[in-house]
Amino acid sequence: MAPMFVPGPVDVAEDVLQAQARPILPHRSPEFEEIFHRAEKKARKLFLTEHRVFITASSGTGLQEAAVRNLARSKVLACINGAFGKRWAEVAETNGKDVTRLEVEWGKPITAEVVADALKKDHYEIITIVHNETSVGLENPIQEVAAAVHEVSPDTLICVDAVSSLGGVKIEMDAWGLDMVLTSSQKALALPPGLALGAVNERAMERAKEVPNRGWYFDFVRLEKHRLKDSTPATPAVSLVYALDYQLDRILAEGLEARFARHLAMAKRTREWAIERGFQLFAAEGYRSKTVTAIKNEHGIDVNELNAFLLKRDMRIANGYGPLKGKTFRIAHMGELQMSDMENLFAAFDEFLRGKGML
Ligand SMILES: *Cc1c(COP(=O)(O)O)cnc(C)c1O
Repeated sequence: MAPMFVPGPVDVAEDVLQAQARPILPHRSPEFEEIFHRAEKKARKLFLTEHRVFITASSGTGLQEAAVRNLARSKVLACINGAFGKRWAEVAETNGKDVTRLEVEWGKPITAEVVADALKKDHYEIITIVHNETSVGLENPIQEVAAAVHEVSPDTLICVDAVSSLGGVKIEMDAWGLDMVLTSSQKALALPPGLALGAVNERAMERAKEVPNRGWYFDFVRLEKHRLKDSTPATPAVSLVYALDYQLDRILAEGLEARFARHLAMAKRTREWAIERGFQLFAAEGYRSKTVTAIKNEHGIDVNELNAFLLKRDMRIANGYGPLKGKTFRIAHMGELQMSDMENLFAAFDEFLRGKGML
């Protein structure tokens, strides 16, 4: 397998790819319903929730849209410190919500204090916040933010985008009191793109019942009615559900704690490697992502040239995202990647740097 050190879509293990190849079952058959049922049950373990996980045929952005349509009639507080928080604000705005953007400098965290201050000034039905801001390699302190929301504005629902971290980093949905947590298949879960998973608690389900114009496809009330019959309102991505069911077994066999520890160890090693080479990390210390490291490109590396060099060795990294393209580059350490893959990457990267007289 040629490892890709990009923050999604990531490499998928061969046997997981193969799991998709079994014959298609009709989705309203008892055989498929059984698979759907057990996949949903296992998915709850990843979210550390006893509630429910909706499995949708969409990417994660679809569930960003579902969150704002189901849980807010109007007022949304959108926390932004990177491209995906910004996208969620746009999703809310384009769905006609009254959005207040709470933006802090990219690379700095959204703190409990700044959220508490915003909630003291005005009332919001939901807050949207990204757990792991992939664009800047930063992890927001969700547990503390959630505690502040509960204290200052207990009826404000907390919606968390964990697209690039769930499955690689521990997120305790129920213990932290998060109302909705969403993720995509193609990042830390190491599945092919095309599925999104959204965990929704009872409080959020109650809210959804009262919000008008939730739409059809992502309506939580409709999704729940069908989930209770181990199904979905429209045709699910049957083959991807096979892969999900299979990959969740693999993840649980590795052990969640072991998996989180593997991601953390790779993150620490990546930071250490970068700092030893004289690079600076983009995200503030104490808030650095455990699944992707964003590195400032102070040495003026041509990232395309670097990737051409790495591709000859069957590897690739990611350029900076959006406005940070060229100014940063990103090394992902999520999904199926192992420490030995990271060491191979660093050896090749060092060779590139030596060739440029930078090392
Ligand atoms: C990739 C990403 C998204 C977008 O997910 P899609 O599955 O491409 O819709 C949203 N949020 C974060 C944090 C991401 O990393």
